[in-house]
Amino acid sequence: MFWDQQCETLDRDTLERLQLHRLQETVRRVAAHVPFYREKFAELGLQPDDLRSLADLRRLPFTTTADLRANYPTGLLAVPYDATLRLHTSSGTTGKPKALFFSRQDVDNAAELCARSFVMAGITPKDVFQNMMTYGMFTGALVTHYGAEKIGCLVIPAGPGNSERQLLLMRDFRTTFIHLTPSYGLYLATFLEKHNVDPRRDLALRKAFVGAEPYTEETRRKIEEGMGVDVYNSYGLSEMNGPGVAFECEHKHGMHLWEDHFLIEIIDPQTAEPVADGQPGELVMTTLTREAMPLLRYRTRDITSLIPEPCRCGRTHRRLNRITGRSDDMLIVRGVNIFPQQIERILMAEMRVGRNYLILLNGLDEMTVKVELAEAGFDGQVEHLMKFQSQLAEKLRAEILIKPKVQFLPPGSLPITEGKAQRVFDERKM
Ligand code: ADP
Ligand code: ZN
Repeated sequence: MFWDQQCETLDRDTLERLQLHRLQETVRRVAAHVPFYREKFAELGLQPDDLRSLADLRRLPFTTTADLRANYPTGLLAVPYDATLRLHTSSGTTGKPKALFFSRQDVDNAAELCARSFVMAGITPKDVFQNMMTYGMFTGALVTHYGAEKIGCLVIPAGPGNSERQLLLMRDFRTTFIHLTPSYGLYLATFLEKHNVDPRRDLALRKAFVGAEPYTEETRRKIEEGMGVDVYNSYGLSEMNGPGVAFECEHKHGMHLWEDHFLIEIIDPQTAEPVADGQPGELVMTTLTREAMPLLRYRTRDITSLIPEPCRCGRTHRRLNRITGRSDDMLIVRGVNIFPQQIERILMAEMRVGRNYLILLNGLDEMTVKVELAEAGFDGQVEHLMKFQSQLAEKLRAEILIKPKVQFLPPGSLPITEGKAQRVFDERKM
């Protein structure tokens, strides 16, 4: 199913011509209205008209999170302050927030791309959307909210948490799809189980869009089984409108990134040079249609790779593989580089493991993994549990090269956070 078949299936030549045209416009506008970019162009000896092909993109300067913070609150605006329509901030919990402005057209485009993304996964105006993302300053909830309204769905702005009420709403209003974080999805699955709700029998849920933080295929399966839904990966970031940047189609083999609105590059995060097609690296994005706050070559720090081959669904927009983490999520423990996702993959593949975990690092560079057991994970025999504990520690060692302590906890005993989960507690940094 298509929301905008023409745009979604543009042949590559036409798409690239459109990209170049929009890139030139964007560069001209920032050169005229954003002193930050004007100065960067001057340093590089670059005139907006020098940009003649998409390959010239590499001559443009990068924009980083630090640049967003340094130009807080309004330094990167490309339109007058009174031409802005909405302010969002990113969910970053430390330091100054990043202020992201939207014009009327930006608000509309953001909703449009979410509508495209939902319809690509089979959503129709008959569907009922219970939005479990955090409302407020974040983009996560509002952008998906307006996207679903655009399609004509009934939208229930539930927000995250308060699982009793979520259940009541899902039952009473026959919710068919939800958008939520993987950590809340895992929690909600446990909650349903505890309350003897069989989602396939008692609810009308069909699909879940899961995103806002990295997760693994194993976690996708746990949410699918526990909630009785078909899970689609949903990617976005506030700097690029929020959700709706890249979603999965029915084939669920990578997420189509809407290339008529964003130009993408994958670079080596150390050298900033492009990686070979299909190789992992940092995703860099340039906005092609944003009016209020265009960003050139924005370094997302998200690690992923591109699938260059065309997709069977007929869409020509290239696909991103699952985001495996952020370059700044990497932990260095006793000299070894570890991504929390590696640990999650091992844990979530185990039947006896439940749905929540934490990683603790102490001042002596020792790692403890605290993990909830599944309801049926403990058969009452302590020796069985101890054996499982050492097997799991060994599996983790094989993956991350250091052996953590494994601690089991009863299901539902670890705290859950609203919004993004904090899973790593690093005492070395406290
Ligand atoms: P913050 O940068 O403060 O976390 P955002 O709410 O804009 O603010 O979060 C965007 C980030 O969330 C992305 O850059 C990415 O790291 C992460 N993210 C979003 N969706 C996904 C997804 N489907 N898979 C992995 N990570 C994701
Ligand atoms: Zn596809």
